[in-house]
Amino acid sequence: MMDLKQPVVQVKGIGKARAEELTDLKIYTVEDLLMYFPYRYEDFQVKEITDLKHDERATLEGKVHSEPSLRYFGRKKSRLTVKVLVGKYLVNAVFFNRAFLKKQFSIGQPVTITGKWDQHRLTVTGQHVTFGLQESTDKIEPIYSIKGDWTVKRVRNVVHQTVQQYSQYVKEVLPSDLKVQYKLIDRNKALQWIHMPETHDHLKQARRYFVYEELLLFQLRMQWWRKQEKEKTDGKARHLNETQVQEFIQSLPFPLTGAQQRVTNEILNDIQSKFRMNRLLQGDVGSGKTIVAAISMYALVTARMQSALMVPTEILAEQHYESLKQLFDDMDIEVEILTSSVKGKRRALVLERVADGSIDLLVGTHALIQDDVQFDNLGLVITDEQHRFGVNQRKVFRQKGITPDVLFMTATPIPRTLAISAFGDMDVSTIDEMPAGRKPIETYWAKHGMLERVLSFILKELENGRQAYVICPLIEESDKMDFQNAVDVHSQLQLYFTDYNVGLMHGRLHVEEKEEMMTKFSRNEVQILVSTTVVEVGVNVPNATIMVVYDAERFGLSQLHQLRGRVGRGDAQSYCILIADPKTDVGKERMQIMTETNDGFELSQRDLELRGPGDFFGKKQSGLPVFKVADLVHDYRALEVARQDASAMVNSTAFWEDQKYEPLRSWLLEQIEHWEELD
Ligand code: ADP
Ligand code: MG
Repeated sequence: MMDLKQPVVQVKGIGKARAEELTDLKIYTVEDLLMYFPYRYEDFQVKEITDLKHDERATLEGKVHSEPSLRYFGRKKSRLTVKVLVGKYLVNAVFFNRAFLKKQFSIGQPVTITGKWDQHRLTVTGQHVTFGLQESTDKIEPIYSIKGDWTVKRVRNVVHQTVQQYSQYVKEVLPSDLKVQYKLIDRNKALQWIHMPETHDHLKQARRYFVYEELLLFQLRMQWWRKQEKEKTDGKARHLNETQVQEFIQSLPFPLTGAQQRVTNEILNDIQSKFRMNRLLQGDVGSGKTIVAAISMYALVTARMQSALMVPTEILAEQHYESLKQLFDDMDIEVEILTSSVKGKRRALVLERVADGSIDLLVGTHALIQDDVQFDNLGLVITDEQHRFGVNQRKVFRQKGITPDVLFMTATPIPRTLAISAFGDMDVSTIDEMPAGRKPIETYWAKHGMLERVLSFILKELENGRQAYVICPLIEESDKMDFQNAVDVHSQLQLYFTDYNVGLMHGRLHVEEKEEMMTKFSRNEVQILVSTTVVEVGVNVPNATIMVVYDAERFGLSQLHQLRGRVGRGDAQSYCILIADPKTDVGKERMQIMTETNDGFELSQRDLELRGPGDFFGKKQSGLPVFKVADLVHDYRALEVARQDASAMVNSTAFWEDQKYEPLRSWLLEQIEHWEELD
């Protein structure tokens, strides 16, 4: 058996010096070389006009149809335009600063042009041109990433040489029935074709193979992990009093929506099962997650266990605390708050009462788990909007040795592919229904020049007794960016709305000041709240019906949607006005999308497409895997399939015994070993 883990010096033509150079590319073994995939392909293949995609690089073959025309602008710049008949289509070919080509075009002459294709204008901006009849130049050139002294060509030579010599020894990884089922080619063929595709079909087949393999391996790891986690318990039984829980639900001021009922049952089932809950609850802004959380915590009370609710900001903690206190007002339930501003004696007292079990529900910021808070009998931890702190927070729990049931709530609907990849080891509950009677928020996009109209619109709503949020991206003027800022806008609006109170809130205020402002706003003592994005998550003031966002192009779609979700929380019609003069197409598209849809899931999917998966959670702790071939935006179907397959596999006995799973199994076992070292 050929050992592919042997060092690269074994490859014909790779000597010591070259092997040394390959370490620049983190290539050490033959296998590393084989798995050093191209990151893109140059396409010199001639295509039909109808097969071309806008903006793609394309090679066209046709006949010169007009005399070329040459225009100069500036001293050195020129544009050469010529019409070329490609099949039935008359296409414009444009060449910049290549005036010398003019002489070479003569009518009727065959020509092959490679360049960027503009589908709308039927124009190719030429980079390569060859004249005369071509032999078939069916060619797709793989492009490899390089470092140091490497050139693409040299890497290509080394890799291709290796592929030719060794790909026949590559072992199959997937069981053959799976390959048949999904019509996947053999692994060694896929390897040859990913490096040396002769046709587009080769490339497609090779990609299909590796996308599935890559996602399946990834999901095997995830699903195995999930199985492990699920089978853990904290050894404490939760004996809920179901009758009491149902009575509590009946006593709420409104009936639960169908979706709320469904997810509540999912959660209660988890809590009652002997396995640990590890569940993500996602629902659009305003879909009513908080009450589901409250019911879950109440359920724990009936089991005589404590719950903790963790939120990202003190304002939000304060709000949740107030509303939970109110909800459980006439019941024998102790609710407390613990944030970094709870200090001294008060803090000591809270800690004491948490430790002796007299506090049932503890609300707070992440101080809750980071500080040395000892619970008497903690059964459930709920985190709200915590994905901002990174999806790896679960690890914190584990490291702390806390093993209660865990429920993660998020109002940033996570596109399904990302949910599967980042939270693939969790169960997911989704509230996909809004409480009845909600009117969709009307969203408008206004240019800065229309400010006057926006202000008079706000005035009208204020006269109807309503309130408004005005959000600005920065708090103080900065030299680099002359965006409207909260402080400025605040003074402007004070001048305009003389009969109303205009409040100001930003990140540099003390927590108490922020709280005070928030309280004033929720009591309608302040009618307009000018603020930075501190009000973004969770804040609930149903009488506010207008959300104005200055310089809205500065925000991502999900963030805008979050902001918009601060209004439309009561029965009245609400409005969101985005003030923006975006300069980029992406910016314009964002504004457009916002006015088109209120559906958070659709928005998050579009956001993902516009920004790419890396940006979605914010760069730092995205917790997202990096794939070689698979792409989380476009390969979501494969991801779903891989997830189902992986889950079925790790939960079957066949996977752990049958010969046909041997390669997958040993891969997984190797990974597991590696992990346990890390953990
Ligand atoms: P979010 O999912 O954004 O956290 P909230 O839990 O804050 O949403 O709920 C938004 C508003 O809807 C709250 O005022 C809440 O009382 C109300 N609400 C929640 N569930 C229902 C329901 N089933 N029927 C009517 N109103 C509801
Ligand atoms: Mg909420």
